[in-house]
Amino acid sequence: MQVNSAGFLESVDQNCRHAMSFLDLPEGLAERIIQCNSTYTVRFGVRLRGRMYSFIGWRSVHSEHCEPVKGGIRYASNADAETVEALAALMTSKCSLVDVPFGGSKGALKIDPREWTPRELERITRRFTQELNKRGLIGPGVNVPAPDIGTGEREMAWMMDEFRRANPTDVVNARACVTGKPLSKGGIAGRTEATGRGVQFAIQSFLRDTRTAGLDGRRDLKSASVIVQGFGNVGYHAAKFLSEEDGARITAVAERDGYVANPEGLAIEALKQHQLRTGSILCFEGAKSFAGDMTGIEQRCDVLIPAVMENAIHAENAERIKAHLVVEAANGPVTFEADKILRSRGVPILPDLYVNAGGVVVSYFEWVKNLTHIPFGLMEQRRRRERRNQTIAAALERMTGKEFPADIRDEFLEGGADRSRALRSGRRHAQHPGSHCGTDAGATGPRDLIGSGLKVLH
Ligand code: NAD
Repeated sequence: MQVNSAGFLESVDQNCRHAMSFLDLPEGLAERIIQCNSTYTVRFGVRLRGRMYSFIGWRSVHSEHCEPVKGGIRYASNADAETVEALAALMTSKCSLVDVPFGGSKGALKIDPREWTPRELERITRRFTQELNKRGLIGPGVNVPAPDIGTGEREMAWMMDEFRRANPTDVVNARACVTGKPLSKGGIAGRTEATGRGVQFAIQSFLRDTRTAGLDGRRDLKSASVIVQGFGNVGYHAAKFLSEEDGARITAVAERDGYVANPEGLAIEALKQHQLRTGSILCFEGAKSFAGDMTGIEQRCDVLIPAVMENAIHAENAERIKAHLVVEAANGPVTFEADKILRSRGVPILPDLYVNAGGVVVSYFEWVKNLTHIPFGLMEQRRRRERRNQTIAAALERMTGKEFPADIRDEFLEGGADRSRALRSGRRHAQHPGSHCGTDAGATGPRDLIGSGLKVLH
């Protein structure tokens, strides 16, 4: 079954209009903010399997109030320009909400990746990247894609490589042209699971701060029943963290070909291995399979996590949702109409902008890391060593009642010593007056690193 995206853009616009009705904006400004600035349609051919195949894709830029613009690229056979515009608009609001300095963008290729071999997908992806590059729709300072439905680390690595080839004079910063890359290609630890991790954090903090009638005032997820729709990147990681770390029971997982259920809770990692082995979650041992049954999300549970696509919960099925809390892990899974119905029934909805923002937050760190050329791990090790040595120095001073010898202090407190030595000698600065070589020992934590990243760009 394919999710129907019709009306998604309208639904996003209605939500924005509703939100802006609470603000005192000058006349016409709300409409200006809502509208998508530009959408580029690309059609290209790739010779495969002895003939020419035509493909169509889009890249929308919703707002350049902040640049570069940022947003995933999805491979989906139901993709269209309107859906991409709606997703780009959500990116603008999401980046503002979590305060990362990006405008909103999104892209899609109308393709079912399961119909192509990896070699073919690589050729299609490289060709798509060439088209985006020609129009300035990919680049570290203009537009930075990331994974979305049907794409992952592998596609990002291909895109980055193609971009580097096309821009041989800027290979230093080229890695920052996409995020969600493999670690070996300039990616960052934690990006793959970041969106699912963010879903977990959003639920934890909601339960900590809010009392919800249907959840019996519970403060955590221990033994709570959770249903997840979509067992891809976001759904799988959310289910894994919630069950393994928070003690939740994942009582059902719904996929494109039906759902599996076990009231005692599914073994999530084993279910993932089964899916990877067989291509489906159905027929998993230790669970009842409901082949072809798309009512998984309508089963009774404490928390429902739609993690597939837009419009999963709409005006027709909203009345049948029996969850006490709906958590929008996908983008736009609850339509504007369904939102009204669920709220009128007292079902709280944690919004996508907040719930799935973990991905773009960690993407931001990856982009900053690529631009500053400072591996976070290295800086972290240095910082730890510095702290440990400071503690030892303080302990020695306290134990002996004497001051640590000034002449060896700088050497011992290593992190600061590098810098003071360099400043004392003045050699590095004299030789490379404008150099930004990424060894600024003053930048010792993520905040400092983020600051350096911004300095490079602005
Ligand atoms: P994915 O391609 O990894 O997973 C999607 C899963 O949904 C697949 O397992 C697929 O088989 C399943 N599916 C497809 N049609 C279905 C149907 N009708 N019913 C049930 N399952 C179905 O995609 P993803 O990266 O996990 O993205 C999921 C959602 O999260 C999307 O809305 C995406 O925009 C959003 N999102 C993703 C990220 C990210 O970092 N990947 C970040 C923010 C938001």
